[in-house]
Amino acid sequence: MKHLTFQTLSLTLLAAGALADGGFYGDPPDATHPWAIHDMNRPQPARVEPGSFSTQDQPGQPPSDAVILFGGGVDEISKWQADKQPAEPTKWEVKAGVLQCVPGSGYVRSKEEFGDCQLHIEWSAPAKVEGNSQGRGNSGVFLMGQVEVQVLDNYNNPTYPDGFASSIYGINPPMANALRAPGEWQTYDIIFRRPLFKDGQEIDPGYITVFVNGVLTQDHTPLEGGGGHMRRSSPRAFPEKGPLKLQDHGNPVRYRNIWYRPLPKRALDGGDSSRMTEAATSAKRAQIAQGILEDAAKFAGTPKMLRQFESLCYADSESIRAEAMAQLEKLTQEVTSLPEDQVEKRKGEVLQVTKALRYLGKFKLVADNLAARQKLEALIKARNWEPKK
Ligand code: MG
Repeated sequence: MKHLTFQTLSLTLLAAGALADGGFYGDPPDATHPWAIHDMNRPQPARVEPGSFSTQDQPGQPPSDAVILFGGGVDEISKWQADKQPAEPTKWEVKAGVLQCVPGSGYVRSKEEFGDCQLHIEWSAPAKVEGNSQGRGNSGVFLMGQVEVQVLDNYNNPTYPDGFASSIYGINPPMANALRAPGEWQTYDIIFRRPLFKDGQEIDPGYITVFVNGVLTQDHTPLEGGGGHMRRSSPRAFPEKGPLKLQDHGNPVRYRNIWYRPLPKRALDGGDSSRMTEAATSAKRAQIAQGILEDAAKFAGTPKMLRQFESLCYADSESIRAEAMAQLEKLTQEVTSLPEDQVEKRKGEVLQVTKALRYLGKFKLVADNLAARQKLEALIKARNWEPKK
């Protein structure tokens, strides 16, 4: 494989796109992948303006698509409530841009409910060190209100490792202790995927990944039912969404800069990333083919024909195939009967169509021995048009 720089490749694709020839490049879709390799029909990633990192003195800026649960404003206490039924206002306090646990007031929960997410949260244990083990600077970040990523002052404080700061409590210890001293701000960046069940069977255990102050401490840790105190949990279904809960464990732990970004669904959950089920792939391929045909309708002649052929890579259609073949016959007839002085002007078009036919033939999407293609190949050879490699 020839090496192309990114820029060269982009320019190649842009040039190809301009000729309505984004396809016929990488391996075509298959039974569990609705897109081709390097498929320009695949949606571009959504634009997100990145934020900035926090310092001890100042919280950073969240990325542009973040949902802010607490950004420092006094009135943002309205986004939270006491974790009680029926709901009531929380007694946790906002002071100097910080959300602080009032010991004895109970857990606080966000009014916002969400499932799979990237969560950013910063916390600070009391600078005045009191207690030990689970009694020192204890709080907790409960994803969907159900799984605790432990918050604890373990800077210089041994405890049972599956209850350490950034453990998945009762499930898995962190891989490292990357905490700063008590009183300093600690950042947790968490990637959470809830467990998935289908017909009562677990199809994905759910996972948590955690970075503490930029250091990886949980690497895609399976949830095993979510953990808890003293008892081993068993796999169980979670609802689609739930609130974020912060624990009152009797210590005045402080929080700031709390935001999340919802994550796209996994393929197992009806999303369209990675390997998909055959049924979902087939439906997606039909949808992509439809989009290409809608685009084809804006063109005529060769560009329309190429888009129609491209659609066959995703979903077959006898009528579209017949229409594209008729146009191919017409084109071949035309270019093979042009006088010397005019045929040269069609060189690019002939090469492009032949390239598409070679691709389609290679992957058995049209016959590999089409008479029209043989005529075009003969024309290319006679005029020595084949680009030098
Ligand atoms: Mg806790």
